[in-house]
Amino acid sequence: MPDELARSHVLRLRAINQTSTQAQLFKSMRPAIEGRHITHDEAPVLHLLAEAAGVSPEFYATNHSMLPVLRVASRPGTDLLHGSADSASFTRRLGMLTQSADAYCCEVCSREDLVQHGFSWFRRSHHLIGVEWCRKHATRLSRIDSREPFSKLPHRWCEEGTLVRNATEPKSLWSAPSLVQTYVDLAFQILTRDRPFPTDGLHLALASRARSIGLRLSAQGQRQLLSDKVLADAPLIWLRSHFPDISEKVISTFYSRIDNLLMPSTPAGVGHTYILALATLYSTASEALADIETQVEQSRLQYKRRTRDVRGVAFWQGEFWESYIRNLGNVAEIARELQIDPKYLREKLQALGLPSIKDLKFAPHWRAFRDFCDGMAVQTAADRHNVPVQKLEEILRTTSARLRGALRSMKFPI
Ligand SMILES: [Zn+2]
Repeated sequence: MPDELARSHVLRLRAINQTSTQAQLFKSMRPAIEGRHITHDEAPVLHLLAEAAGVSPEFYATNHSMLPVLRVASRPGTDLLHGSADSASFTRRLGMLTQSADAYCCEVCSREDLVQHGFSWFRRSHHLIGVEWCRKHATRLSRIDSREPFSKLPHRWCEEGTLVRNATEPKSLWSAPSLVQTYVDLAFQILTRDRPFPTDGLHLALASRARSIGLRLSAQGQRQLLSDKVLADAPLIWLRSHFPDISEKVISTFYSRIDNLLMPSTPAGVGHTYILALATLYSTASEALADIETQVEQSRLQYKRRTRDVRGVAFWQGEFWESYIRNLGNVAEIARELQIDPKYLREKLQALGLPSIKDLKFAPHWRAFRDFCDGMAVQTAADRHNVPVQKLEEILRTTSARLRGALRSMKFPI
């Protein structure tokens, strides 16, 4: 369903499949993705849900997980598509998380869902830190008052009256202070992004904007810091409930969670702190996003120039080869370790006949391949491990002789 939170989707699937536990449901779904680019035992739950919905993991992650706001930025070269095979470790870790700690629903949305579809669902856009309203209806969200809020769909909670209605003003989003409205707009737009911004470009853009409005970037000095401006401009009651640490900072002291976002080489900050920084520096979401896109694009191009075609044969035969074996051909890991553009690296690996071997120890086709390298006939090796002979022949066609040599010398259980 549109904007449905993955956890809410799980709840519906459990009802449809009549599985009593979540673990049981996931176990029954795993065989469906066997033989894909990552071994099915390791596949993130989000990939299983994508399969059940009949969409790609990338589409599912961008439309049904909170990854776009949890990973607003990442190191250059690791700004991979949310849900992609190369970013599986992030999907595994963050894919099923919500951003806010509790579960929320809009009572108007739930009523409308029930009339139109016969059931309701939890939405991602109701679970963003700092966003207290439904954007469609501009009304305040209600919190589900239960220890297991994702055990029932929203209309059930509405029927039972297990909701806590927030009485804080303003009741309508349109009456909220302008910084909060910009924040809400930004949060919604960033929630639809398909990949993180690279930190260098994003931080440079934020720094350039901060400098242009007279803010100080260094720890020492007289002028206002970005964190001071946040404290001065954002409504304190809103800040206290969503950013309690910041609301207690001392004026003029460097506050790294916010002020570090202006340093080009610092690691990525927490997702919602970027949204707060942008809402403080710009008066509208569209102005903020257009400005940072330009800088980010430049940084991406510079990164590509820096990491492409600068390595000679000695690199590809030496340092690269060691990294390839150590990381079992995992593109994301090698790219990160050697600072190579992952897209370029993938093309290069294909040209060199070096596939990913990260499921080396488990996958039957690698076991068959290993037997072949040890001298067994193709058909016998394939039969022994129950692998189609065409699959083994394809591996032999596309795998380099050097890799065959390396695999022969590697120890793994057969
Ligand atoms: Zn609503």
